[in-house]
This record gives sequence, C-alpha cells and structure tokens, in this order.
Amino acid sequence: MNSFRDNLSPEEQAHLVTVQGKVKQVFLRRLQAPEWSVISFVAEWNRAQDDIGLANQGEGVELACRAGCSHCCHASVEIFSPEAFAIVRTLKTLPADRLSAIRQRLLEYELDNIDDPAWTKRPACPFLDDHRCSIYAVRPVACRQAHSLDVKACENDAPHIPQSLNLLAGMSALSGGVMDALAVKGLDTAAYDFVPAVLLALDDPGCEERWLAGERVFSPVT
Ligand code: SF4
Repeated sequence: MNSFRDNLSPEEQAHLVTVQGKVKQVFLRRLQAPEWSVISFVAEWNRAQDDIGLANQGEGVELACRAGCSHCCHASVEIFSPEAFAIVRTLKTLPADRLSAIRQRLLEYELDNIDDPAWTKRPACPFLDDHRCSIYAVRPVACRQAHSLDVKACENDAPHIPQSLNLLAGMSALSGGVMDALAVKGLDTAAYDFVPAVLLALDDPGCEERWLAGERVFSPVT
C-alpha cells in the first residue's frame, strides 16, 4: 500500500512520518472528546482528504479524473471499519425501497464475484450508477485516493497509472495518522473488502457498537 514511499528521499520520508504524527494527535483529540461520533469522525477525515486533493491541484497538478469517468470503479476496494459504518448510516437515510434495491445489488455483486478472487472480471462497483458514484459524499478513502494523471493509461488498463507523488504522500500520511489515533483508542484499524463489510454493517445493527468496544467485526481480506 505504501510502496510509493520507496520513491521518496529520506528527508521526504522523515517529513511524512512527522506529518502522520501530527495528524494522529489531531484525530486523537477528536476521539477523546466526549461527544465524538463515528459519522463526524469519518466526515472530518473525508474533508481532510478532499482538502489535500484541492491543495494539490492548487499547486498545478492536473488530474485526468472527471465526473462520468469510472475506470477506477472497476477495481477491488478495501475499506476501514468506521467508513463502513458511516456509509451504512447514510444508506439508512434512504427510502426503504431504495435501500432494499441497493442491498439486493450488493448481494448479487457478491454472488457474481465470489468465485473470482483474482478480480479477472473487473466488475463495476455496485454503487456505480451511470458512471457516477451514488455514495460520492461518503465514498471510501481508497476511492478518494484513487486518481490518474493520464486517462489513456486508465483506458488501456495500464499496469502503472501515473499519479501525483505529493497527493499520495499527503493522503497516506493522513490515513496513517487517523489509523494510529484509532489504534491508541484500542479500535480495529485493519482494512476489509468493501462490499462484504458494507453488507454486514447493513444487516447487523450491533456491529458498530462492538467495533467501538474494541472488537474486530469484519472478516479479513481474502
Ligand atoms: S464507492 Fe463510488 S468511487 Fe468507490 S468504487 Fe464504488 S462507485 Fe467508485
């Protein structure tokens, strides 16, 4: 996950460690506030991710990513536990028939792809609607981090997608710091397969509570 760090100089790597440590302190303070909630914690994390993306563009980095382009939504996505809970809380605000249709789509996606762990079929994410993300505001950090500097590389399914090292570094330091803060609180920080985690969180209303009690509630990535 952090292989891009190999391309950083020792000074840049040291800077990343420093930034990650500062992020950890900021998010640890959030977790120590009596009124903290999973949904506000994830919202702040998401905002910080988006701010890094905007700052990066302000420095002249031209992303090839555009609304309606969904090449990267045909990839395997991993998710952290609090993200699954935030997504499910958002889904549960939808009308019952819409929520039921989404659940059915997630189940069908699971059944269709369970025999393809190597991801050879490259199925579209079940949250993709007409080439747009239907949960854009709460999409996982992995999706927020996905980007390309060259749409041709995405179209050709190139083994290496050109990316902004600064953007990767900033987002990695942010997520690393957030995970470090959660770990200090004794909370599970492993990454899980996206769709099974969302399905479980949808069907088991007690799993957020158990995660908050320090349990590992999702199955490890296969
Ligand atoms: S959650 Fe949204 S952004 Fe992420 S893969 Fe699915 S459709 Fe794409």
